[in-house]
Amino acid sequence: SRSAIDLRSCIRDIPDYPRPGIVFRDITPLLLDAAALSEAVRRLAAYGAPRAVDFVVAAEARGFILGAAVARELGAGFVPARKPGKLPHETISAEYILEYGVDALEVHADAIGHGANVLIHDDLLATGGTARALCDLVERLGGHVVGCAFLAELAFLGGRERIAPFDVCSLVTYD
Ligand code: IMP
Repeated sequence: SRSAIDLRSCIRDIPDYPRPGIVFRDITPLLLDAAALSEAVRRLAAYGAPRAVDFVVAAEARGFILGAAVARELGAGFVPARKPGKLPHETISAEYILEYGVDALEVHADAIGHGANVLIHDDLLATGGTARALCDLVERLGGHVVGCAFLAELAFLGGRERIAPFDVCSLVTYD
């Protein structure tokens, strides 16, 4: 049998980034490692596989990296959620609160058909504001959020509670 790859050891801690006192979890070493990249995509897709996923919805920009690979693995479509003004066709928008101010994510209004099963993805779950916005967009388009799959989760920020009752999977948890 294949030995498990320690994905946690492939995520690098960057102290004091982007501000003093913050430890940024940098996933780029994991992306560089072909075996770790493959394992991460495989495990995220394994979470989605029993959920009959029609679309993966992922947030700009790091969510796109694994999100499209997971969609391909599941035989699902991919929906990019982008910052305001980036998508060319008619969009719907969801705002979310940042530490300083408000941001928004948009998807094309015709992106998700009524009744479609949607897997939410981002690289990392922190406060859950981003994921909550994605869930809201999906529901407003008539889709069903069948789960939320993250590479990493900062559990101490309570993101999981923020997106309840939707189910959350994260491959690496920081307590
Ligand atoms: P939230 O909306 O507070 O859950 O923040 C999650 C978003 O911020 C995701 O799109 C992440 O890409 C990004 N993010 C926050 N902290 C980190 C980190 O330590 N490493 C990588 N991305 C992060």
